Amino acid sequence: MSKTFDKLQPYLEKSMAFQTARSLFEWDDQTTAPFEAADYTAKVVGILADEYMKCLINDDVRKLLKKLQEDKEQEDLTDTEKAIVKELAKTYEQLESIPPEEYRAYNELAPVANRKWIKSKKDNKYEDFAPYLKKIIDMKKKFAGYRAKGVKDPYDVLLGDFDECFMMSDLDPFFEKIKSEIIPLLKTVGAKAETIDKSYNFLNYDIDKQKEFCKFLSGYVGFDFNKGVIAESAHPFTMQLHNHDVRITDRYMEDNLESAMFSIIHESGHAIYEMNVDDSLTQTLVGGGASMGMHESQSRFYENIIGRSKEFWEPLYDKLVKLYPDNLSTISLEHFIKGINKAAPSFIRTEADELSYCLHIIIRYEIEKMIFHDEVSIEELPKVWNQKYQEYLGITPTDDTVGILQDTHWSWGEFGYFPSYAVGTAVASQIYACMKEKMPLEEYLKEGNLIPIREFLRDSIHKYGATKNTNEFLQDVCGEKFNPDYYVNYLKEKYTKLYEL
Ligand code: ZN
Repeated sequence: MSKTFDKLQPYLEKSMAFQTARSLFEWDDQTTAPFEAADYTAKVVGILADEYMKCLINDDVRKLLKKLQEDKEQEDLTDTEKAIVKELAKTYEQLESIPPEEYRAYNELAPVANRKWIKSKKDNKYEDFAPYLKKIIDMKKKFAGYRAKGVKDPYDVLLGDFDECFMMSDLDPFFEKIKSEIIPLLKTVGAKAETIDKSYNFLNYDIDKQKEFCKFLSGYVGFDFNKGVIAESAHPFTMQLHNHDVRITDRYMEDNLESAMFSIIHESGHAIYEMNVDDSLTQTLVGGGASMGMHESQSRFYENIIGRSKEFWEPLYDKLVKLYPDNLSTISLEHFIKGINKAAPSFIRTEADELSYCLHIIIRYEIEKMIFHDEVSIEELPKVWNQKYQEYLGITPTDDTVGILQDTHWSWGEFGYFPSYAVGTAVASQIYACMKEKMPLEEYLKEGNLIPIREFLRDSIHKYGATKNTNEFLQDVCGEKFNPDYYVNYLKEKYTKLYEL
């Protein structure tokens, strides 16, 4: 027991409460708040952000933190307390260097910028969003600059906020590997994939039935409705208040069967992670997922690795056909599996197949690097975006709504976030490889028994919250640090088998 740590607790608890309130506002903003609310609610959110910062950034906490970092004090700390102190030091580094009035201004700006993005996407007018994007980028550059202190690269600072294990020096070789191995594979697969008739997916699918089936799928993979709810939003996401209140959203389209189904499996993967964090950790600084990379590894494991496998659909497909007999009764399970794994270059990241997905990420990563290295102006961004799509995927977006305006992240200032999707995907493949050695995973899927899979992930990853980082998890679970070979091999094996290459 550490007396110094006990003294820190009230500050941590109060800041947690403000943070939870902010999350709840963000959830409300994305799901139920009326369109015109944002400009006014932003003021409330700004004040909450200000109070959150005051709880943590003050002389008392600074002194306690400094003391707790001393060797003598560290001896009295439990492992969880040590992890909390480490996380607090990180939060301190993030917040302390930013003047409070600038931090508040930023938190007021972000929801407004997000609304401008929604409107300009609707109107296909990048020029309406551009001034807000510029403001967001300018502030992000300033903040990253404060924190980089002339030593680090500002973009590395931002990357580190989402996963401390993946800086540019880690991502550059990883992405070069994907480019050299996956672009040729996509070309080979793409030619074969063209023969797969996927028109069944774009018939009319009653939205109430879609909601019913998505809810079923969510529970099937392990979403606990006593600890979570599902709502609707323009862009599916997960939001946790704590491990007993985890919320996910989905988006339903009448003329697309797959979209909502795989989104709900994806978000359920995130939710299962948060719901299974140990009770002793929730509502602390280490009470959530370890990193965005680890988070995406779980969502993409459920969505793609198991969710798009034949074994997963074997016990389920009849149920889906019964729901839509007119559309699906002539589509065999084999046909459906080829359909949900049809690989082809496309404009929209969230709708992309597994094979081309990471190329969408690489494009964003390269553009973000250019932005934070002052190599591109805001006005030039759509052009650069389209050029990169042509270069890597061989297609040019027909307009900005399917180009640069498609993702919400930049409107919130979430630069450095996108690489987590690629890292997560690769981490998922690595975990999958070691799970297959430890359990009859495919048999479990065929039996419709997902409990052993969930329990394995809970006991080896989820319950630890953020007390370890991505590489520490991989070392402990798989016996080696991040290794992108598993991912490249996974894709090669899967697509060679599926397309009989
Ligand atoms: Zn996700």
